[in-house]
Amino acid sequence: MSILVINAGSSSVKFALFEFDTLRSLARGLLDWPGDAQHAVVTLTPADGNPISRELDVPDYRAGVVAALEMLRTSKTLGDGILVRVVGHRLIHGGPQIRRPVRIDAAMKDLIARYTHVAPLHIPAGLEAIAATESALPDVPQVGLFDTAFFADIPPAAYLYPLPYAWYEDWGIRRFGYHGTSHAYCTERAAEMLHRDPSQLRLVICHLGQGSSATAVRGGVAVTNTMGFSPLEGFMMGTRSGTVDPGILLHVLKERGMSVDELADTLHKKSGLLGISGVSSDFRQVEAAAAEGNDRARLALDVYAYRVRAMVGALAVTLGGLDALVFTGGIGENSAWLRAEVCKGLECLGVHLDASRKGTSYSLGDESAERGESRRAKKAASPLFWPDVDIAAPNSPARVLVIQTREDFMIAREARRMVLEKMNAECGK
Ligand code: AMP
Repeated sequence: MSILVINAGSSSVKFALFEFDTLRSLARGLLDWPGDAQHAVVTLTPADGNPISRELDVPDYRAGVVAALEMLRTSKTLGDGILVRVVGHRLIHGGPQIRRPVRIDAAMKDLIARYTHVAPLHIPAGLEAIAATESALPDVPQVGLFDTAFFADIPPAAYLYPLPYAWYEDWGIRRFGYHGTSHAYCTERAAEMLHRDPSQLRLVICHLGQGSSATAVRGGVAVTNTMGFSPLEGFMMGTRSGTVDPGILLHVLKERGMSVDELADTLHKKSGLLGISGVSSDFRQVEAAAAEGNDRARLALDVYAYRVRAMVGALAVTLGGLDALVFTGGIGENSAWLRAEVCKGLECLGVHLDASRKGTSYSLGDESAERGESRRAKKAASPLFWPDVDIAAPNSPARVLVIQTREDFMIAREARRMVLEKMNAECGK
C-alpha cells in the first residue's frame, strides 16, 4: 500500500509515492505542459530506476492529472500496479483558522475556493487536482496540508498591515504566510540536527527557490513569514517582485498608463531575477551569466543577496537573537555563493561560516560536506535520513544549516498519521 502526494502548481504537477508502512520513497512524477495546453508530458522516476516519460494529448489541466494518475497507478515499472491508501495534497491557503492537516470534503473545497483571489494561479490548480483525484481514485481518502497552517499563531503585530482597520475586519486583509510545510519541516529537522528541543530554539529559515520566503521561528512556533496577504510579498523571487514601494504601483497605474492586468502580470511574471537580469528567472542561469561577465545578471544576484541578508537581520532581531540560520529550497540548498553572500555582515548576530569551506559547493551529493558519522552508514540505517549539513565555523554561536526540504515527506507522514488515527478511533469504538 502506498501514499500518493500531489503538489499542484499553476503549470506543472509534482507527484511523490511513498510506502505506507515505512514512508520509504517509491517514485516521483512530474506532469508538465512544455508547449501548448493540450500537450502534456508525464515523467515517472522510480526510486531505484530510470525515468520513463509519456506524452499525453489532454483537453485540460484536470484531464492531464487524471491521465498522469492512471499512468502512476498502473505503471509496470512500479511492480504490479499501485494500491493507494491515501492521497495528500499540498494546498496553498486554508485561512488563518486551519492549523492542522484536514480531510478534504465538500465543505473544505468551498473553504479553499474562498481564497482564490489571494493566490489566483495556485488555488484553482489545487482544486483541479482534488477533482482529478476524486475521478481517478474515487474510493481513496484525500488529506490536505495548507501552506498557511504553520502561521496560524503569528501575533497581530506581525499580521496586521498599517491600513484602515476596516480592511482587515470587513475584507480579511492581513498577512498569512506561505511555504509553511517546508518551514515546519525545517524547524523539526534543525532541532534534530542540533540535538535540541524545538522549544529552545530561535531560527530564521530561508526557503529560497523559484518562490522564496523566510520565517522567524521561536520555540517551534512561527512568529512571522515574509510572504503576506499573497505570495507576492517579501523576497525578490524568480519572476515575482517581492516587496516594493506601493507608491511605485500607484505611479505606474496613474502616470504611465499601465492597466491593472498588465501590472499584475509584471509583478508576478516579469520581475525578480528575470526583471533585473533580463536573462532568466532561474538562479543557476543568472549565476552562469554573471560568471561570464553579464553586469545585469551580477546586479540581480547582488540585489537578491542584499534583500535576503537584510531580512535575516530583521527577523533575527525580532527573535532577540539567533540559534540557527537555515537555508533550504533549490537556491538555498545549492548556491554556496548566495549563502556566503547572505552571511557576510551577519557576524554581528553570531553567524560565522566555516572559512575552510569557503567556495566549496555544499551540494547535497557532496560526501565531504558531512561532518562526523559516515553519511552512507546513516543512510543505510534509516530510510528517513537525508544529507543535511551544518556549514558554520566550529565556534560560531549561531549555526548555519543547509537542509534539503521535504514537503512531500511531511505531507505523506501527516496523511498516514490521519489514516492511522482514524483506524485507531474506529477500533476503540
Ligand atoms: P525550487 O523552486 O526549490 O525547485 O528551486 C528552483 C531554483 O533553484 C531555481 O532558480 C534554480 O536555478 C535554483 N537552483 C537549483 N540548483 C541550483 C544550483 N546548483 N545552484 C544554484 N541555483 C540552483
